[in-house]
Amino acid sequence: MISAHEWDAWCSELSGVGLAVMGVMHPTQLDDRLQRHVLDYAPEAMQAPQWWVIGHQGRKLWETICDAYQVTSLANATNEEHPIDMWVRRFLTERIRQRAWHAHVWTPDEAGEIGVAAPLQGIGRALGWRHTAPFQLSIEETWGTWFAYRAVICATSLAPWSEPKQQRNPCEACVSRPCESACPAGACAPSWRGDRCQSHRLACNSSCQHDCLARRACPVGSVHAYSREQMRDHSLPSLNVITELARSKPETR
Ligand code: SF4
Ligand code: SF4
Repeated sequence: MISAHEWDAWCSELSGVGLAVMGVMHPTQLDDRLQRHVLDYAPEAMQAPQWWVIGHQGRKLWETICDAYQVTSLANATNEEHPIDMWVRRFLTERIRQRAWHAHVWTPDEAGEIGVAAPLQGIGRALGWRHTAPFQLSIEETWGTWFAYRAVICATSLAPWSEPKQQRNPCEACVSRPCESACPAGACAPSWRGDRCQSHRLACNSSCQHDCLARRACPVGSVHAYSREQMRDHSLPSLNVITELARSKPETR
């Protein structure tokens, strides 16, 4: 068992680079569908007695990584396809090794020790980070939508357990709903229209290619909002995915 003192030191070390432990859970806290998915694709992760879910909050992690590469944006700073995931994996693996803890780092890409992508959104929901903004990002009261899950540490060395997060949905009390009127594609209301969002992002000179005006209009946690450069780095993977999808669609005549 990891002592409270060791655990506090670990949490402070993570916080120093912009990471945070978002929860400590058992894999059976996942809903049945996700448990079956993990059992099928990553059975060794399901066997771990404990998962530590790691995320970033606000700008600090991105600034730390830019400093490490001595750049002002991660685009073209490295040959790696997912530089943030790679940096986080290396950092966590090294720090766990230094402590001689028994734990594997599981990240949202397929390049790590477990070899399949961790379903981080579903894992976050199991921890109680379960509310979704009209533009389809997770939202919570302090950080708004300016946070993300980065990794799960499948641990045999046991840390103090955490309770699932209980919190109200900020969108339920939001009467003016500025996010909805800020979306130039009308994708957020009256219900989510992913097709409209994707078309708008792919349009020439789109204001949403590397940003989301709806997200920026939300006042919740806005003090933690990412810079334009950070947004660009975070939005590139999803832009690449929807560009590929659009290319692979058969043309209609
Ligand atoms: S602006 Fe209001 S409705 Fe939109 S995400 Fe923020 S809290 Fe939710
Ligand atoms: S990226 Fe643009 S189109 Fe998509 S939800 Fe955000 S504001 Fe709307």
